Amino acid sequence: MATLDKNSGAAARVVLPGTRFHRVRKTIQLVCFIGFILLPLFTIIRFDIPHERFYFFGAELWISEFSIIFLSLMFIMFTIAAVAMLYGRIYCGYLCPQMIFSEAANTLEASIKRMVNRRFSSMGPLARRAISVVLFSAVLLPAAIFVSFVFICYFVEPADLFHRLLSLDIQTAGGIIGASVTLVTILDFAFLRQGFCTAICPYGYLQNMLADTNTLLVHFYDNSGKCIHCDKCVRACPMGIDIRHSAHQLECTHCGECIDACSGILGRMGRESLIQYAWGDAGRHAVKETAWYRRIGLRDGKRIVVLLLMLIYASGLSIAISLRQPLLVRIMPNRITLYTKGADGLIHNRFRLVAVNRGKTAAKLTLSLADLDAAHIVGMDDGVTLKPGESLQREFEIAAAAAAVGPGVNHLRILTQVTPKQKSEEFDETFIAPMESTPSPEPADKR
Ligand code: SF4
Ligand code: SF4
Repeated sequence: MATLDKNSGAAARVVLPGTRFHRVRKTIQLVCFIGFILLPLFTIIRFDIPHERFYFFGAELWISEFSIIFLSLMFIMFTIAAVAMLYGRIYCGYLCPQMIFSEAANTLEASIKRMVNRRFSSMGPLARRAISVVLFSAVLLPAAIFVSFVFICYFVEPADLFHRLLSLDIQTAGGIIGASVTLVTILDFAFLRQGFCTAICPYGYLQNMLADTNTLLVHFYDNSGKCIHCDKCVRACPMGIDIRHSAHQLECTHCGECIDACSGILGRMGRESLIQYAWGDAGRHAVKETAWYRRIGLRDGKRIVVLLLMLIYASGLSIAISLRQPLLVRIMPNRITLYTKGADGLIHNRFRLVAVNRGKTAAKLTLSLADLDAAHIVGMDDGVTLKPGESLQREFEIAAAAAAVGPGVNHLRILTQVTPKQKSEEFDETFIAPMESTPSPEPADKR
């Protein structure tokens, strides 16, 4: 739990007692890495493009359910923007898969180099370098394929993708996209790594734009000239920058490695780190404060409003998902023919039923009529059963004796009943009968 540093006169600084940001960061990164793998493989969050589905924490949303998908995406975007405003580039330093894999590639490369230098010390530098490159590539290649596979699983069903991978499919559009993503991933982790964050990724720029005077920053404070210029903070920085120049450098991902580095070196002299997390530029001058909400970043009205908006979005989204009907039913009249007279002597009106089962179990739909007692449904006596994911279009008729209904337009309601139970729907429709004056001994078609 973060607390305030009360000894340095900078009460708004954030420190972690008894641990290091590096350890916290690596633990969070491990959780994120596991989450990155599990989310698509267990279909927790996945945008299935071929099947036009959006899976969001157990809900299987169809692409036609625009309102819920829109709310879900807005909630995700709003959360990302709010986190950037409150906690700066914490996402980059602690959560981003690109950063996690870049740092893993750096660590792996350095370990392999050390091991090769130790074991093959009798060889020349060129030979050792060649061995290092071969060994690094041997690990990087399967790792990049695995990471690409997981990434593409966010958009394609994992089983389908696995079969494509096994058959080395580079002929279909999906196979070509998969191969391209894998190639880009290999090049990224072989050559770009953190260079991607500063040169390509637009999210870093966006985060800097969202920051204000109360956003969490990494600051260097040295009012009394205690810096011993050891440059350990610079060597520890994964982005290769010197935080002493400014707290607002575009490359800084707020990872806190420089804080640990300075703590390590000055701690041996009984001093505290000259580099700290702090809430905005004002952090260094902040007075003592103990309010918990300020300590977690809720430092002004703007942040409270952002938090409330997030709660409203989350509530709206959960209500929309809970009200969602698994079986979507649409009923419309087929007015190509206004009415026909059947062999049974009754007047028939034709309707079209469209039903889609968006649930995970089979659903049975039955229809009934209200407000026109003399009419009955023809052709849907036992209802219809739809398997999970099945869509159905079907015509049915409503029939009534001409003498039992009014001439011309009669109003009625078509009611739905669904098993497993969901909210019944009503469709206001009309039943067209011949006008009283119309002699219709034969079936009469009107267009
Ligand atoms: S300056 Fe410090 S916080 Fe910023 S990226 Fe480098 S090590 Fe991380
Ligand atoms: S690690 Fe601390 S003491 Fe060393 S150069 Fe960086 S800020 Fe100065």
